[in-house]
Amino acid sequence: MAAVLLDGKAIAQGVEDRVRDRVDALKAKGCIPGLMVILVGEDPASQTYVNNKEKACQRLGLRSRILRLPQSASQEELEEAIRAANEDSSVHGILVQLPLPKGLNEARALALILPGKDVDGFHDINAGRLMRGDKGVVACTPKGAMHMLKSAGISIAGKEAVVVGRSNIVGKPMAMLLLQENATVTMCHSRTQDLPAHTRQADILVVAIGRPRFITADMVKDGAVVVDVGMNRVDGKWCGDVDFGPVSERAAYITPVPGGVGKMTIAMLMENTVLAAEEAWAGQ
Ligand code: NDP
Repeated sequence: MAAVLLDGKAIAQGVEDRVRDRVDALKAKGCIPGLMVILVGEDPASQTYVNNKEKACQRLGLRSRILRLPQSASQEELEEAIRAANEDSSVHGILVQLPLPKGLNEARALALILPGKDVDGFHDINAGRLMRGDKGVVACTPKGAMHMLKSAGISIAGKEAVVVGRSNIVGKPMAMLLLQENATVTMCHSRTQDLPAHTRQADILVVAIGRPRFITADMVKDGAVVVDVGMNRVDGKWCGDVDFGPVSERAAYITPVPGGVGKMTIAMLMENTVLAAEEAWAGQ
């Protein structure tokens, strides 16, 4: 039987509708939620991502500002831009578009963003809070993936969850979120021995490795929930890390690519920015 599709577009639309209402409520009090995106250099993919973020702000009524620094910008110039955004009370969320050009220190730049304005959730403080299970800003992609599971009413507690990929922006925070929801979590990576033996145990399988159609049907348990975070461009088309057709014959639920987790990421960025604005307003 074919799996139920977890429709990122529809779920993200629901999130955006609620964010829009919260933006309106803030505006009625005199606060316009503002996002500052700092883009260094001219990487075409980054330009597209930044434009998409700006469009989302426009759709939902947030104020967006893009600060474009040249490819040749120094670490000092980047850090000065972050400090200025930290001090600007009309900026509630700050996002440094990654990757930065070679020669710039990403970790140092991210560590400068005030944790309350770190709407990507990449700051050490927010990553640490997630690790401890404390309240903080949660990275947009794993937060969006969790939201998809919950909105489909998928139960997580007590389930075997396997996360393939251990990056700081997807795999690790995803594993922490599943653990918070009381799943039994296994993390796999490029050095994992016998990956299929692990993935076949998964009631919930999350894949974020950046390898087109790597997870095949024989690696998936019957009736599993499969969340495909991968975004790969093959012959001019997007595909995930999961071999979608055959796997969807075996899984109970599956996220498509495109139209799955990717749709959730920007919606969660908007939600994180509005949350930051609400907290800044409440703290005044
Ligand atoms: P990274 O390159 O930072 O991490 C990839 C991870 O996959 C690493 O932990 C690596 O292991 C692991 N890995 C690579 N090959 C294998 C393998 N053969 N078997 C098991 N594990 C493997 O990637 P990201 O986390 O940044 O992104 C992953 C994918 O998700 C990409 O396709 C990216 O485009 C996509 N993505 C999508 C987003 C969205 O909005 N939908 C947002 C962010 C990312 P090791 O640590 O051992 O090297």
